[in-house]
Amino acid sequence: MNISQISEEIVKLGKELTDKGLVNGTGGNLSVRMENVVISTPSGWSLGELKSASLSITNLEGITLYGPKPTKELPMHLAIYHARPDINAVVHTHSIYAVTYSCTATVDSLIPIYIPSIAAKVGNVKLIPFVLPGSKDLGELVGKEIRQYNGLLLENHGVISAGKTLSKAGIGAYEIEDNLKIEFLSNHTARRIPNQLVKEIIETYGG
Ligand SMILES: [Zn+2]
Repeated sequence: MNISQISEEIVKLGKELTDKGLVNGTGGNLSVRMENVVISTPSGWSLGELKSASLSITNLEGITLYGPKPTKELPMHLAIYHARPDINAVVHTHSIYAVTYSCTATVDSLIPIYIPSIAAKVGNVKLIPFVLPGSKDLGELVGKEIRQYNGLLLENHGVISAGKTLSKAGIGAYEIEDNLKIEFLSNHTARRIPNQLVKEIIETYGG
C-alpha cells in the first residue's frame, strides 16, 4: 500500500467514525505508520471533512515532512509506534460511552468485558490516569502502557485503539465503545465474562 492509498483509508475511516457518532467536531485523531513516516490527521480539522491532501506526514520524531500541522495528540501516536513495532495504526476517539466510563471507573483497572468480540479483537483494555492531552507526559505514559494492551482508556478523555492495520484499529475503537455502551444500557447490571474465559478467548482468537 502506498501513501495515497493509506490517505484514502484514513479519510474514509474519519468519515465513518463521524457518521457513526464516535467522533464529533474536531475531536479524535487517526494515524498510520508506513516505514519511517507517519500519516496523521491534521490539527483542528473535523475527521468527517478530511481530504487526502489535508493529511499531515511526519517522521517518527514528529517533524513535519509534508502537509499541514499534525494533530496535537501526535506524541501519543508516536510513542505507540516506538513501543510496538507490530503496530502500524492508531485510532483515538472521544466516543461518549467510553469517555463516560473513563470519568467514573477506578483508574488503573481493566474494563469489564461483556462481549466476546472485544476480547477476540482487542483483548483487555486498561483505564490509565489523566495526563494533559497532547503532552509529552501523556505520550510517555501511553508508550509504557501500550506494551501490554492494544486498547487503552484515558481517564476523563478518550479511547486509544492500536492495530496492525488501520482497519483493525478502527474495529477496536468500535468494540470498546459498544462494550462500554452495554455498561450503561444495562444500568451497570450487565454480567461480565469471567476473567478466565476472557483469557481463553484472547488466547484462542486474539492477535
Ligand atoms: Zn483526545
